[in-house]
Amino acid sequence: MDKYEEFMALTSQAIGILKDMSKRSPYDMASDGMARKTAKSFTTLADVLFGPTDSPRLQRESVALAEERGLSLEYLDMVEKHARKLKKRGAAWRLRAELIAFEDTFEEAEAYAKKRVTEEGGDTKKKPGVRLGRVVDGLRTISITDTQRRITDLEKTLDTAVENDNDRPRSESLLEPFWDLVEGTGTGLIRPEYRTVITIGLDDFAKVSYGKGEDVIVALSDGTTMTGAEFINAAMAGSLGDKLYVGLFHPTAGPVNLYEARFASDKLRTLAMAENLVCPWPDCNVPADRCQVHHIDAHKNGGHTKPSNLTMLCKYHNGVNDDDGPRKKRKRPSPGKPKRGRMRRHRGKVRLHTPGGRLVENTHDLSSKGAMDLI
Ligand SMILES: [Zn+2]
Repeated sequence: MDKYEEFMALTSQAIGILKDMSKRSPYDMASDGMARKTAKSFTTLADVLFGPTDSPRLQRESVALAEERGLSLEYLDMVEKHARKLKKRGAAWRLRAELIAFEDTFEEAEAYAKKRVTEEGGDTKKKPGVRLGRVVDGLRTISITDTQRRITDLEKTLDTAVENDNDRPRSESLLEPFWDLVEGTGTGLIRPEYRTVITIGLDDFAKVSYGKGEDVIVALSDGTTMTGAEFINAAMAGSLGDKLYVGLFHPTAGPVNLYEARFASDKLRTLAMAENLVCPWPDCNVPADRCQVHHIDAHKNGGHTKPSNLTMLCKYHNGVNDDDGPRKKRKRPSPGKPKRGRMRRHRGKVRLHTPGGRLVENTHDLSSKGAMDLI
């Protein structure tokens, strides 16, 4: 057993570990070298699992099941984070019991937990507004919450001012253009031009065209969504431009076209954006408008510039994508450099092929609204 396997074996004994922790004080655990914050969150969790409760039978049965299933501290912590939002008598333990019995991945259990908490009204919705933080080290923070359209228009305006500034982190270079705008020395908000790609299925397009688009949600490559009605209004106002691009996609082969060129042309880029409105790397949320065109089979390895070999990837993931692996063994493996996997097209869709051989897709909201999901 290597250290990783030992670690994983210990991970499945969370209930036993928490039981021992429930007999200790978090301050004693802190003096054993644990962060006080961590010690407190463990003992709070232990209190929930072994302390007095309004649902003793459910508590007893769930703890026994969690032990039998070898659930980890991380999993139980996630369960608790969501369950404690439910205040109605017995509701928290009902959710804990469901999640402890939930037979799927951590991520699916968490998605289910969020859904349940929202249904029972345990989550407060974000409210539009401007919030100002206190002074920390001579600096203050302002945060603005508003509709996705208004914030994205602001973002686009600031982005045009920093287009060629690649040396500094994005947050840093956006600052001065932001103040220029506030102080009125800039050119004002940019009226959005949807050169941004919009994807819509033919069925929905028919509905929208007949003025029945209220329930149709259209996804855009700048990371936002529009209702069908907003889409028609934008078309009427002329902000969709005078050209309407139509991409042809095959359910298993991916995007269809006949181009063979060294660099992705505008048209190919547009087609790739329509397929992936956000970077397809799992858990990434960079919208396609800020992504780069990536060759799935690298050009240097004979990959062609044709639609089915292209995808959008954000700058970061384009950089970490392992162009040479894992399909082809490197001649000289570079020690120390972690392998992150590479993008592959599998059954028509772009997915991450992990070094361990799994195919993982991005589950971002907009990922399920791209062109390949409409057919
Ligand atoms: Zn990315």
